[in-house]
Amino acid sequence: MVEITCLSASASKIKLPEFAKEFKKAGFESLLVKMFEKTRESMISLTGVDVGKFQHDKEMLFPMLFSYHENGKKGCVLIDLIREIGTPTTIEITCFAGNKNSLFKLTKLIKDILIQQIGFEKKQIFNGTVRELLKSRTLNKLVNSPQGNLINNITPECLNAFLDKKMREKLRQLVIGPFLGRFFPLSIVGPSLELTEDDIKKLGSLGIFRIGYTAYCSKCEEVASGQVIFRSPEEVEELLRRKVTWCATCGTSLDTKTARIELVCSVSDMGRALTQGLWLEAYVKSIIEKSIAKDNIRASVYHGNDELDVVFLDLDTLDVIECKDKTVGLNDMYVLTMKAARLKADNAFLVSTRKISKDVLSSMKDEDRFGFMSMTGDVKTIKRALEKHIGKMRENFKRSRLQQLAEIVLPFAFPDVERFLARQRWYRHTRRLRY
Ligand SMILES: [Zn+2]
Repeated sequence: MVEITCLSASASKIKLPEFAKEFKKAGFESLLVKMFEKTRESMISLTGVDVGKFQHDKEMLFPMLFSYHENGKKGCVLIDLIREIGTPTTIEITCFAGNKNSLFKLTKLIKDILIQQIGFEKKQIFNGTVRELLKSRTLNKLVNSPQGNLINNITPECLNAFLDKKMREKLRQLVIGPFLGRFFPLSIVGPSLELTEDDIKKLGSLGIFRIGYTAYCSKCEEVASGQVIFRSPEEVEELLRRKVTWCATCGTSLDTKTARIELVCSVSDMGRALTQGLWLEAYVKSIIEKSIAKDNIRASVYHGNDELDVVFLDLDTLDVIECKDKTVGLNDMYVLTMKAARLKADNAFLVSTRKISKDVLSSMKDEDRFGFMSMTGDVKTIKRALEKHIGKMRENFKRSRLQQLAEIVLPFAFPDVERFLARQRWYRHTRRLRY
């Protein structure tokens, strides 16, 4: 069964109670009730498109529809498109309104009717298109990797430390350089990385460093291996005073003479993961979070055996992003291709802090299973590119929904106000006949 219903009502400037009245007057409410009575088992996908921007577009799809609005007859025009697509058990309702405010009111109103009057349960109503609904199932199948759990604990302040390239290089030394993740006195780490004690303490408060006091063997001139790190120097002093500890390297019994108390630091597990590239995933995620609901974003997850850096769903587009804080090779491209294809992603992105060679990029030229894009450069360039992509995707979505609307509804739509009123009469007539 394919049902196409259109109704034009006003929404933009009137208040919700008035709008609800209009809605009732047009018979739309009872129509909805009747229509859904038999389909209570269905899942309802409720989505909205704010067409406001297109109103003044010279190539707009519905000149009359919007001129109706412009003539100031009754605020903006909304059309409702109800039809069954995608799955036999999902009904899609798309609301169109002139601006976000009206759209919000309209979708809320329809949702209320579906729940309060028809008896749908809240969980049966999904805010999004059917495609989005199907894709969100894919998203919900993704499982967090150990790093995925870590990424959710990264604070904006912590991430911020990694957006400075120089700081990143310094911190990398702690993981790949001579420090190798062991504890060293601040007096050695600081000058070596050109960090002040305050810098290190700040990184400590952000969770990037682990800082504490320990016994430092004066003979070996290093942190006696196996030593516990304490929060206060008093605790170490107590340990040395009691002479209950010794250096596992040289065997010296450690006391206040053979050892001294040092403030030492080491990179934390989180700091290590961030340094090894997790910061870029966290950064990409933080950019996307500004325009997409957190529920629709996953970072560091498994899809079967594939490890995916960032996956997000916007409207009805599923995107996968591979983040590389290192040189990208042909093999990386191949892996990304396979992962994106298995996920049935719409777009695959490669975000890299390094320039990608033309050879590597051209290997993606013939890929037609999904859109491919690469974003390279410093953090600002990556941010701009991602934001631009999301904005473009939204505009495309609006255009395609309007196009869809045009194809399905336009034959019934309104070339002028008279036809529009006739359409409303027809609509009331068929309502009596068919429901
Ligand atoms: Zn020693």
